[in-house]
Amino acid sequence: MDGQDLIAFASNDYLGLAAEDLVPAVHRAIDTVGWGSGASPLICGHGAIHAELERQLALFEGTDAALLFSSGFAANLGSITALVGRGDAIYSDAKNHASIIDGCRLSGATTFVFPHRDVTSLQGLLEDSSAFRRRLIVTDSLFSMDGNLAPLDKLAELAEQFQAILMVDEAHATGLYGKDGRGVAQHLGAEDGIHLRIGTFSKALGSIGGFVASSQCVVDWLVNRARSYVFSTALPEAAAAAGLESLRLVREEPHRRTRLLERSAHVRSQLRQQNWDLGSASSQIVPLYVGTPQAAVELSTKLRQEGFLLPAIRPPSVPAGESLLRISLTYGHTTDSVDALVSALESHRPRP
Ligand SMILES: *Cc1c(COP(=O)(O)O)cnc(C)c1O
Repeated sequence: MDGQDLIAFASNDYLGLAAEDLVPAVHRAIDTVGWGSGASPLICGHGAIHAELERQLALFEGTDAALLFSSGFAANLGSITALVGRGDAIYSDAKNHASIIDGCRLSGATTFVFPHRDVTSLQGLLEDSSAFRRRLIVTDSLFSMDGNLAPLDKLAELAEQFQAILMVDEAHATGLYGKDGRGVAQHLGAEDGIHLRIGTFSKALGSIGGFVASSQCVVDWLVNRARSYVFSTALPEAAAAAGLESLRLVREEPHRRTRLLERSAHVRSQLRQQNWDLGSASSQIVPLYVGTPQAAVELSTKLRQEGFLLPAIRPPSVPAGESLLRISLTYGHTTDSVDALVSALESHRPRP
């Protein structure tokens, strides 16, 4: 930036796939099918590579079917508005992603926002609002600013008890968590209780494009009703080719996620020893809570002078008083650069 080389601890390319590993597959696809898809999927934009990716996605996720959207944002917006409307209720975690919030608003359903990861409050809300027609519980699985996990096993129990639909957005977890890298739901053994899983190729999978994995019946419904699917141009097939390649790498190179998660645990424990407040972070996203926006900008500026790019996250991205520096660890970081960051932070650490 501005002529200075920085080591980025800010990217969501968690498996380090974006820069090189997907490129040959993309080149091959462009050479055979060209670039733009030409139209929305239902007109003529849906090609053989899209179809193969949807088939592979369903296999990867262990669901009946999967549907590609142009982005994770479009997948959330389209799914929520297709599933619920006036007369229905949505129960949404207070720290859900903006695309979920916008989907709730646009749907016309009554939205109850429950305190972050607070299962007891959610249960109270469900008990007190039984008159609605359809009820949808929706949550991120790994929260992008706090780096903590949603209690998906407990949410699945509540969804079953109250006959609600459970929709989980695995955007920051797909490719990283669980035995096969499907996400936090697999990690917590909660997959069976989840009706729709949202994911994106834009983070750990190093590419672009959102998806929904669910039953055939739900996917058929979305094909007909999700307006961000019906009325938006399909991704280039080369992007779908990148998606296929990233799924192959998740399957065949599990050491990428294992190493990243081990390294993340190690960094968290080093930073806790340095006296940093990490909240309840338990992932590859490590927040350093510093309190005020000024403190966050100051620390970010100092680190930048030392060669590290760590964005200062301030309101309105986080509530007042919770300004933070967000460390985003990836498989692509060298041990030396991670060690260098940890030792730079040592000299700025909060004194008790
Ligand atoms: C990034 C993100 C999205 C949006 O995904 P894109 O593919 O970038 O549009 C949706 N939900 C969550 C939780 C995210 O973090």
